[in-house]
Amino acid sequence: MRKSTFLKWKLRQAAFITRALASTNHVVLAHIIPMRRCNLACGYCNEYDQTSKPVPLEVMKKRLDKLAELGTSIVTISGGEPMMHPELDQIIRYIRSKGMIAGLISNGYYFTPDRIKRLNEAGLDSLQISIDNVAPDEVSRKSLRVLDKKLRYLAEHADFHININSVIGGGIKQPEDALSVAQRAVELGFSTTVGVIHDEDGTLKQLTEKEKEIFHAVKKLGNKDHARLNWFQDSIAEGKPYEWRCRSGSRYLYICEDGLVHWCSQQRGYPGIPLEDYSMEDFKREYKTEKWCAPTCTIQCVHQVGILDNWRDPQMTPVQIRREQKQKERVGEVLRAD
Ligand code: SF4
Ligand code: SF4
Repeated sequence: MRKSTFLKWKLRQAAFITRALASTNHVVLAHIIPMRRCNLACGYCNEYDQTSKPVPLEVMKKRLDKLAELGTSIVTISGGEPMMHPELDQIIRYIRSKGMIAGLISNGYYFTPDRIKRLNEAGLDSLQISIDNVAPDEVSRKSLRVLDKKLRYLAEHADFHININSVIGGGIKQPEDALSVAQRAVELGFSTTVGVIHDEDGTLKQLTEKEKEIFHAVKKLGNKDHARLNWFQDSIAEGKPYEWRCRSGSRYLYICEDGLVHWCSQQRGYPGIPLEDYSMEDFKREYKTEKWCAPTCTIQCVHQVGILDNWRDPQMTPVQIRREQKQKERVGEVLRAD
């Protein structure tokens, strides 16, 4: 990444954080899925299929228009494997044309020097690749040995921020691989983070003593800002629940390939409303709603968004929200009768 692009990236980050702290009335981060299909089949993953078609560009543009309308700061394209989408560059360009930050999550398999240059031209701001192990096994082929060449291409040609995420838990056999992945990322000039792999419903897997030791060693190597924001991970490593306010459905949105808004990748179906119909009323209800899955949630990006509002606006359970709504309606009826 060139120095000038790096400075611009830092300034844009500072701007969206300042904006998010100043106002709670807009979406901070949206994950959008342009294609559910993936070229891999990781053993722990429930976010891919092997047959679905790409969402057409015009449909993607309409969804992005709506995200812009909701004041979204960052749009991260995820999957499946979004690099398989034939119009990915146009999607990125469109995100940037709407003044939003464009991020991409990929398994790294499709990066060539030419493809990276085209992503530079499209205006991609940031890329995250998750690498699960050093050598491929039956759980995952997102492996350092397979991807190292791609990482070298990225180090040489990419003009966007790159984060390499290593993982622990969820059936990954050699936890020490996470350390090798993080060391290689730092060597190539990338930032690095470590995540705990969630189980099928997005909740916690307890780490063994060895996993915990490696988890802390990898965290030390990583981006200090991320480490500070990911304080919740220390509780996860200990297998303890912790208190925070998940703002999914409002400050964070997950838009699936069918254009429905979900809390996150692991809680699809809630609220399950089409993005085109999503209103500020939905946004405000979800902002206030306490999520039952929060105490053991391992999803890093939603935590980081949650930190921006963790100190304000306590949440209520769905039952309490319905009760409050009914009380308001009753007061309205009395006033109208008067
Ligand atoms: S590469 Fe990503 S989307 Fe594809 S199967 Fe693996 S974890 Fe799932
Ligand atoms: S707490 Fe929020 S991000 Fe975590 S699983 Fe539940 S809805 Fe998803």
